[in-house]
Amino acid sequence: MGHILVTGGSRGIGKAVCLLFKSDGWRVSYFYRNTLPNADDMTAIRCDVRDGDSVKEAVEHAESINGTVDVLVSNSGISVTGLATDFGTDEYRSVMDTNFGGLFNVSNAVIPSMIHNKQGVIIAISSMWGQTGASCEALYAASKGAVDSYVRSLAKELGPSGIRVNAVSPGVVETDMMSAYSDEDKNELKNETPLGRLGTAEDIANAVYFLASPAASYITGQIIGVNGGFLI
Ligand code: NDP
Repeated sequence: MGHILVTGGSRGIGKAVCLLFKSDGWRVSYFYRNTLPNADDMTAIRCDVRDGDSVKEAVEHAESINGTVDVLVSNSGISVTGLATDFGTDEYRSVMDTNFGGLFNVSNAVIPSMIHNKQGVIIAISSMWGQTGASCEALYAASKGAVDSYVRSLAKELGPSGIRVNAVSPGVVETDMMSAYSDEDKNELKNETPLGRLGTAEDIANAVYFLASPAASYITGQIIGVNGGFLI
């Protein structure tokens, strides 16, 4: 087993990814921004993914402890909900710099070693709204559209170096990010989902696990929907 680096591993989907890989014997490093991590045998590093210099330093720190990153999961993300015209430059920067800038900064920090080793896996956590667009989540959806496009481009650029790049594109998953939704909203979303339930962080972690595994060795440049059939 190798070294997996997960951004936003302190809560929600990122935490589920960390726990799954840890239980399989991987060396796990993760970045967090504010949430103090629980004591565990993973390497937790405080790092804001919006800042390219801090990310570079944090990746070097993680590699000094756990070796070269074999799998990067760019998961950290934020959402804002409201009419497009409710938001200004501050929200624009914060959403784009976290959701897309985070992928840009962290992948740039790990790619040189992956190219050197002629192997590596990059997985971005996107969102189905990036594929469809979303009323009242326009900025968020746009940031995830950028993620999907970047994933496809990186896959083309890095495939010849033996590096696979994919995205997992969740539907609605019960985490803190959904706290802005009322129970009524959540029930409506459930009813619109063919499998009749919201997703769990573990549902998403399982897809990440598959994409990181040798079973996915011929899969690159794909946006894998894990949404209970919401998007068919
Ligand atoms: P949570 O809000 O539960 O967790 C977000 C994580 O991202 C936290 O670990 C947080 O750290 C971290 N984070 C946020 N901003 C930064 C930053 N600037 N630098 C470093 N870390 C940061 O979200 P989810 O687990 O629900 O979401 C994870 C990913 O999945 C996101 O990219 C999200 O867009 C995507 N997604 C989620 C869906 C859902 O329904 N929940 C649906 C579709 C996609 P800290 O704890 O320190 O604040």
